[in-house]
Amino acid sequence: MKKLGLFSLFLVLTLMIAACGGGGEKAVSGEKAAKTDNEKVYKVGVDTTYPPFEYKEGSEYKGIDIDLINAIAKNQGFKIELNPMDFGGIIPAMQAGQLDVAIAGMSITDDRKKVVDFSTPYFDAGLTVVVKKDNSDIKSVEDLKGKTVAVKKGTTGAKYAQDNASKLQIKVVQFNDSPAMFQEVSNGNADALIEDYPVISYAIAQKDLGLKIVGDRLNGDQYGIAVLKGQNQDVLEKINKGLEELKKDGSYDKIIETYLGK
Ligand code: GLN
Repeated sequence: MKKLGLFSLFLVLTLMIAACGGGGEKAVSGEKAAKTDNEKVYKVGVDTTYPPFEYKEGSEYKGIDIDLINAIAKNQGFKIELNPMDFGGIIPAMQAGQLDVAIAGMSITDDRKKVVDFSTPYFDAGLTVVVKKDNSDIKSVEDLKGKTVAVKKGTTGAKYAQDNASKLQIKVVQFNDSPAMFQEVSNGNADALIEDYPVISYAIAQKDLGLKIVGDRLNGDQYGIAVLKGQNQDVLEKINKGLEELKKDGSYDKIIETYLGK
């Protein structure tokens, strides 16, 4: 009985893999398409200037996103290779076929949904305004009129600032990574910045950056893991399944606790 069960499972799997190879992987190169799922190494785009989600310590990558994607890959039996890059380059790299997956504290947005498919949300974030610690005239987004606001290229923070630039009457300056953006405000070159709440609150708690958070969160951004739209549906399914299992067995909470405490 057991043998027969395994054999039919094998048959079903073989058929499924054959079916996927025919339709789902059209845009994948011949060499990749010929490989089976087990051999394929998924290229994962990460933004390693983004603690507590992704950062480099010595030669090691660490953070919630790194632990999460490693745990998902292990749970679902697929291989990954991390590809660190500026956040703004991640979706273009996916579209150019250089990445299969992205986990980068990436917020799920309708705009991005036009080009990528997202996993189920795995973290609640949301944008916030940040100013220099000794600034007393900016208490919320309403006080930004006439001010210079630093943002990070390609982010939801950048989009928020650009979309509201004329309404808020702000000047927007863009940076490639979060540390450069933080620096701009702490050294007084820009009046404020917009960053994800959990990222800036973690940064301020780790080290005195001379910055403070003001006002309420500007939105309710949630993070998702992205795969290129209409492709890699097999890996998206595994990601969702892995995420669900890690949430059920407590591993997800453990990862969050490692970086954020209880
Ligand atoms: N969550 C923001 C976004 O998706 C910022 C991400 C990041 O800077 N890594 O745009």
